[in-house]
Amino acid sequence: MRYLKPDYFEDFDCIAGECPDTCCAGWQIMIDEESLDYYGEVEGAFGKRLRDSIDWQEGAFYQCEKRCAFLNEKDLCDIYTELGERALCQTCTNYPRHVEEFEGLREYTLSLSCPVAAKMILGQEKFPVFVETQDDSEDELAEEFEDFDILLFTQLEDARTVIMKHLKDADMCLDDKLALYLQFAKQMQECIDREEYFEIDSVIRSFEEGQFPWAGEPAEMLRFVHRKDLFAHIYDLERLREEWTEVLDGLEESLYAKGEEAYRQQVEAFEGWLQEVQDRLAQWEQIGLQLFVFFLYTYFCGAVYDDWIYSKMALAVESVRFIRELYLARWVEKGELTQEDYVELAYRYAREIEHSDPNLNALEEYFAES
Ligand code: SF4
Repeated sequence: MRYLKPDYFEDFDCIAGECPDTCCAGWQIMIDEESLDYYGEVEGAFGKRLRDSIDWQEGAFYQCEKRCAFLNEKDLCDIYTELGERALCQTCTNYPRHVEEFEGLREYTLSLSCPVAAKMILGQEKFPVFVETQDDSEDELAEEFEDFDILLFTQLEDARTVIMKHLKDADMCLDDKLALYLQFAKQMQECIDREEYFEIDSVIRSFEEGQFPWAGEPAEMLRFVHRKDLFAHIYDLERLREEWTEVLDGLEESLYAKGEEAYRQQVEAFEGWLQEVQDRLAQWEQIGLQLFVFFLYTYFCGAVYDDWIYSKMALAVESVRFIRELYLARWVEKGELTQEDYVELAYRYAREIEHSDPNLNALEEYFAES
């Protein structure tokens, strides 16, 4: 079994009661079977509280005003305090560590939805490094992957590798790179749709050689229409937290409500502000890059399970674009952007989109159709 992790993965430490936006509130926390069995047998008054505070049919903790029933007024977990760390269920033990499983490969990331993880991800100053290790003793334990398409998976990994190389070396701004990667994924998708699976190798090879005969000019004129359309779609999705409504309303008010010409002027003014100071522009590009790599690693190879290569790439690219729109709106509101703004808006987006399967599915369908 191969394992892949970003090089900062093991440095994560939960700050619990100091967290600006605890993960123990705002969403349902599902409990694994083993923990349910254990909670059912804890003795004494705390055992009774446990049993009374679990929705046994759903297998989830009850909530009180959207906070987990065990989250106390100091934002600390009473299960942790009373029974120790080992008593936490799998969801609470693992979060924000995220795992994607493939045949022979387990990929780990930290979830962008945790403020501390978001700060680590966006605070990386170098090009992202993923560390691969191998442990053959685990091979027998590896889950059986029926119908796993190893050819497609190898192609997806190859495509991701050439994208990472291009991302690192190409002399191009991030916006242009993202537009190119979308078109690259579209070429791969068309091979799938035509059932010309081996053609994907040619598409990857020509990308690697710097040949992009299929690449068109970025459609800057359509930016307003596209961004507003994506915004409208995201506005209609399920919302997990009230704060997200405020963020979305602020975005509409600052960027879209006054029409295309006003939007264009805001973008121009923002770009001028970015270019005033070299470090500011470099930070903007670096944060965009870290976001893209995060989404690329979280989603792209998952296309092995449904063949939706294009929509996986679109999810990665459009997530970066949408978060950058949130940054732009924050700049319009405040006239500046701090590292705290970058972190906060990224984790808010991730909480709403990445932690709701209906939202993720709806977005993927939207990208597949658009
Ligand atoms: S969101 Fe992250 S830092 Fe905050 S309580 Fe949860 S795991 Fe800890």
